[in-house]
Amino acid sequence: MISAILCSCTQLDSTIVTKSVSSNQKTLPPPIAPQRTTPTKTSTATATIPQEPTPSQTNTITPSLTITPSNTPIVPKALPEQLPLPHTNIASPETHLFFNRPILDGNNYPVSHYRYGMTWDGLLAPHLGVDMANNQGTNVVAIGNGSIFYSGNDHIQKFGYRNDFYGNIIILKLDQQWNGRTLYALYAHLDNLLVEKDQQILTGQIIGTVGKSGAALAPHLHLEIRIDDPFDYMKTRNPELWYSPISGTGLVAGQIIDKNGMFIPGHKINILCADKGIRWVETYWNEWTKPDDLISENFVFSDIPATQCTIESTLEGQTISKRIDINSKEITFIIIQHESP
Ligand SMILES: [Zn+2]
Repeated sequence: MISAILCSCTQLDSTIVTKSVSSNQKTLPPPIAPQRTTPTKTSTATATIPQEPTPSQTNTITPSLTITPSNTPIVPKALPEQLPLPHTNIASPETHLFFNRPILDGNNYPVSHYRYGMTWDGLLAPHLGVDMANNQGTNVVAIGNGSIFYSGNDHIQKFGYRNDFYGNIIILKLDQQWNGRTLYALYAHLDNLLVEKDQQILTGQIIGTVGKSGAALAPHLHLEIRIDDPFDYMKTRNPELWYSPISGTGLVAGQIIDKNGMFIPGHKINILCADKGIRWVETYWNEWTKPDDLISENFVFSDIPATQCTIESTLEGQTISKRIDINSKEITFIIIQHESP
């Protein structure tokens, strides 16, 4: 049982909000340490974390937090022109979903308010991974075969916005490449590190335990997928495209675009399925979180029951609904184009 899920990833100082965010990563505003002892959110209820995920529970892990309304987001939302242009030639999305889930005997669902590219209602920096809330000491396992690229603290070696951010981390270099490119799984905020650099690892092997080291405010696993360069925090991709959906479910990945065909950032969309589960995501907030190189999405829903569902997107009073068929262990792709800018 975890009473509050307050994610790690950084809260930026309000003084940097007025700076513009450019597409050049060198101009990104410098993050400031999160406030470990005085978070801006207060917990008023407890969130029950399912120990055995089932399709019907997917995305219903919404922590009941009272959030102080913030009129000014921590990081400005990107303008559509700052985002990469969506690809239109969607190729072989089934080449994803390679890997296993990272938690053994615990919660393998991401925190719904802070999925990849989301900002927890503007309170946190765009999220470079997913957070899985679990009790301290829960076993963390390798999502694939590989070798340990790094096992240690980030006091000295920087992997994120700053040192002492991810705390105790393990970076697993995965044997499975993707189009000739190397993939890395980064596990952050760990308690115990049970592996050493260069150690060969098998899928499912226990490599560490959940903790709250670094900038974490409560025990959880922060999981990232990085491509090409394990040191570069601007080389992440959405982990939900890379680990397998649970049994009987599939994924939806897609593009929410404006009348000019540009990505719409920070835009909430819902998916309605027969089980009436509450599922929503927001499109990627800015250019820090990259679309997949083939799928070119700006949102992902994972662990969706393999049935017919409806995606809903509302912009400036215009609601677009599209029915889609979800297939088990597959990615369904959808494009919704609004007529508004
Ligand atoms: Zn996180």
